[in-house]
Amino acid sequence: MISEDAYDYLFKIVIIGDSGVGKSNLLLRYTSDEFMEDSRSTIGVEFATKSLKIDNCFIKAQIWDTSGQERYKAITSAFYRGAVGALLVYDITRKPSFYHVDQWLKELREHTEDTIPLVLIGNKLDLSDVNRAVSTEEAKQYATDAGMLFFETSAYDSTNVNDAFETMFDHVYTELSKNRL
Ligand code: GDP
Repeated sequence: MISEDAYDYLFKIVIIGDSGVGKSNLLLRYTSDEFMEDSRSTIGVEFATKSLKIDNCFIKAQIWDTSGQERYKAITSAFYRGAVGALLVYDITRKPSFYHVDQWLKELREHTEDTIPLVLIGNKLDLSDVNRAVSTEEAKQYATDAGMLFFETSAYDSTNVNDAFETMFDHVYTELSKNRL
């Protein structure tokens, strides 16, 4: 168990994407290993923290959720300020949520350093057999062209959730060690 109080680095990470793509559930799955069947009416938490260790360094990851503010186009610059990594989420069953990633990326770039690691996440992989609307190839190509890492995840059954977050943290750590963030 790593102490919550002592850490070498504090990572602020933001999760963005259209409403309903599963941002709050990805965060909940990663930090508490839980899932909410119906979270439509809930306003998410502002952020959750997770303590981890990379290369003998104690890291406190503070992961910020939009808390539903995106519904009202009310994300403030304070939300992005100081972010050293971002997860851009779309829903593999909703094509518009994939097309909107471009706008999210643009907004993110206005508020953060160009060098911050970005992860594109296609969520709701558990629904891929019947409801897939965005192909893996298309999304992977988009991610490569935009310089993002790419994962397809399911917050529902946990597939790739830890991998997506931990790969992001490894990249943030590498960038910080190079003093580029
Ligand atoms: P947010 O608005 O982006 O934070 O999305 P939420 O986390 O609130 O999720 C929106 C809805 O999608 C809720 O009804 C969730 O139960 C559902 N959901 C989220 N992630 C998944 C997933 O991986 N698979 C499935 N089947 N449903 C999901």
